[in-house]
Amino acid sequence: MGFDPSTLFFAAGISAVALALTMFGAWLQNRLDVFLIGWMLGMSSLGAGAVIYSAYPPQPVVILICLTLQTVGFVSVYLSARLFTGTPVHWRIAIILALAAVAAVIVPISSGRDGVGVAIFNVIAAVLLFLCAQEYWRAREQSPLSIVALSGLYAIAGVSFLACGLVLIYERQWQLVGRPANWAESFNAVVSIAGITGIGALSLGLNHSRMASRLSKEAATDALTGLMNRRALFSNFVANRLRPGDAVIVFDLDRFKSINDRYGHRAGDITLHQFAEELRSNARPQDLVARLGGEEFVLVMRQVSVAEATATAERIRAAFSATPLKVNDTAVLVTASAGVAFAVSEDDDFEHVMHRADLALYRAKNSGRDRVLTELQVVA
Ligand code: GH3
Ligand code: MG
Ligand code: MG
Repeated sequence: MGFDPSTLFFAAGISAVALALTMFGAWLQNRLDVFLIGWMLGMSSLGAGAVIYSAYPPQPVVILICLTLQTVGFVSVYLSARLFTGTPVHWRIAIILALAAVAAVIVPISSGRDGVGVAIFNVIAAVLLFLCAQEYWRAREQSPLSIVALSGLYAIAGVSFLACGLVLIYERQWQLVGRPANWAESFNAVVSIAGITGIGALSLGLNHSRMASRLSKEAATDALTGLMNRRALFSNFVANRLRPGDAVIVFDLDRFKSINDRYGHRAGDITLHQFAEELRSNARPQDLVARLGGEEFVLVMRQVSVAEATATAERIRAAFSATPLKVNDTAVLVTASAGVAFAVSEDDDFEHVMHRADLALYRAKNSGRDRVLTELQVVA
């Protein structure tokens, strides 16, 4: 079976341009993901380079344009990989290295040694592809199967470019007669087609699943405080029921409406944030902290004694009530009340225990606020 590398490169180029358009479409739907633009630019540049390379006679000026486009394309794909995995990009260094890479390719071609330029280009492409493979490999925990496959595809593509470069060097083809045609070029063309299709599908799939998990996280989070919201809290107890020895503590800020009325809604928001921080810093890793809505919060403590749960609620209340809120250079004190209830039998579900904690909170409010009451305490 004989392959004509030019036709294969043309096909690879067209696939890359099609992928670039798909990535642009994905970016239009979610403009926060700027790495999609990087991929799009990279793929367009690689695709244009491959199409021009296969369509025009291999004169130095054609090779010069194609390899410049492709070098820029590989740099852009690598930088996008870093943006995707969250590795910092030092733009100034990146631009200097990209210019150096382009110069390393075009200087020998311009001085009549096009074979040297092509060999250097292949080695640079291989290095950038290996760096992409390494970048994804490091992030494989996010979605092991697709990221490992992506990393593997980049590595194989890197090997195919390295092979092209090494064959030219081995054969000492410092000046080309026509397009290089050898087993490495055919291998590289086939790998490019498979790689672009595979990398495109995997990258878009990964981006999509990342977007989905971001949305579901957002849906479970209270936007103001960053705590779990009511819906996430309740759905958590569908699978993880309360067990005897677990405590539910409901907090409610006292006379909170008057804080909004007197100092403005923004001051109210800052107070809510401050209370959420107090809760978070007093929770143990196994506890759950949520904002139920408005100025009501819940702390669920797993396997805790009555004394420890009550002491924790009291510590949070005392610390919050003692921390003045700074509003327009005035120190404002806000207090909070809490009700504590415990799961005592296997049938005690979360809603029941929370209802009992609410009743204790109600009694705390009625007996003067700024206090913690448990369901076990009797108020005189
Ligand atoms: P009590 O001591 O009896 O709990 O009195 P309260 O004023 O705290 O209770 P009430 O339920 O009358 O008022 C709750 C207020 O919380 C009303 C509402 O304006 C305010 N609130 C609810 N959500 C938010 C929010 O996201 N931001 C701010 N700033 N205020 C909020
Ligand atoms: Mg309330
Ligand atoms: Mg209140």
